[in-house]
Amino acid sequence: MNDLQSEHPMLQSQHLGELQSECHLHLYGCLPKEALFRLGDERRKQHPTRFQWFLAEFKKSTGVTLDPENWWGKGGSFETFKKDVLFTSPAPFEIFQAKFNLLIALFPAIPDDLDLATAVFEQHAKEGGYKEYRAFLPMALSLEDRIKYLRQLTEAACSYDSASYHPRLAISLPRQDTAALDSYQFLTHFLDTHPDLAKWITGIDFCASEHTHFPSAKKTLFQQVRNDNLRRTHHLGILYHVGEMWQDIAIHSAARWCVEAAQIGANRLGHALALGLNCNSLFGQVIKESPSETEDTFRWLRQFRGTLHDFGFTSGDYGWFARRAELSIKEGQTHWFYDRDLVEQTTLFQNAAMSMVQALGPIVESCPTSNMRIGGLTSESHHPLKRFADNDLNFVIATDDPGIFDIDLRSEENFATAHLGLSSSQLRESNRRTESIFTNLGEPLGPRAHS
Ligand SMILES: [Zn+2]
Repeated sequence: MNDLQSEHPMLQSQHLGELQSECHLHLYGCLPKEALFRLGDERRKQHPTRFQWFLAEFKKSTGVTLDPENWWGKGGSFETFKKDVLFTSPAPFEIFQAKFNLLIALFPAIPDDLDLATAVFEQHAKEGGYKEYRAFLPMALSLEDRIKYLRQLTEAACSYDSASYHPRLAISLPRQDTAALDSYQFLTHFLDTHPDLAKWITGIDFCASEHTHFPSAKKTLFQQVRNDNLRRTHHLGILYHVGEMWQDIAIHSAARWCVEAAQIGANRLGHALALGLNCNSLFGQVIKESPSETEDTFRWLRQFRGTLHDFGFTSGDYGWFARRAELSIKEGQTHWFYDRDLVEQTTLFQNAAMSMVQALGPIVESCPTSNMRIGGLTSESHHPLKRFADNDLNFVIATDDPGIFDIDLRSEENFATAHLGLSSSQLRESNRRTESIFTNLGEPLGPRAHS
């Protein structure tokens, strides 16, 4: 540390690691635990119905009855609070959601309430760098209140922008097609009527459960966003969580979803775990898939057989999957049993799929701790990040929900080097890629005009 750094804490924090910027964050999941504890007691009194909803949902998902007196009561403690509400070890997504609900309950997205956003911006201003936060639009509010809410949130981000810290917002849209279009149209109207704030809104995002929401359904909407971008000074990136959960589709189908999202124009793929997951992690397991999903995958394999062949997935491999699918139909579903052969063939398909993604060029946003805890990975060797790096994908590293995971970019960097085999120069490259998203004016990185 030099003299200048020791005099300026801000500079210290910015020069200790390779990663300073990140583009896969959810605003609510960023709230530091100290702020949640500090603000929570008063807020549960302001929003008693919402708080009761959180407690009831928590009981439903976990079987545990929480007692907030153990947090904010006479004998209560911050330690008990952290143990109850932070998500610090692997568990099913439902448990994560049950804990996340506390944030939703205590911080309704309404105008004139920026406590959560300012606590997050204040914390991250100490770390510096570009940080892009995904935030939902409160579509249930009146048009006037919705505009006011988004304007105030964006103005808050703008007010924290400085020489060293650059907060940005990406708007999360629902996955349901009609609701997604409604939200997108609202956002377009907002950007058209608030051109001075457009610089701070850098993308649209799709998150929450992927179940039944196959990417190709978004083709028309993605096309519209790209067309609209042609007349925008500040383009909106298309951010798409995909291949993060696959309980009800085979890994090769989930990997296909990742490629499809890139093919229809997603600039960034969130997580894309299935694209590079070590399939040995599935050995001995069965994934049951609907016949329509199985058929969709075979249709896609036929459509892109030339490209797949170029990347090592031959017609013989197609034939192997077709025979295996025929033999695996039971009780109206395809039961993919991960024996040695299926693990090997799926790995081969993933390699071809990764080459397709590499050729299309989207950024793959990898969130290691989130994947280990929510993705149910039981060993670091199952995480796909090293495979992404070895296959020259444009990966970046992010923390996803650092508040509720109780992590930061520094701990994620340490994890990636100590357990996932990444080098310092790969981390530097990841950071450079993240920053280039926000410093490259014009069209976002990634696929341009695939149909
Ligand atoms: Zn996410």
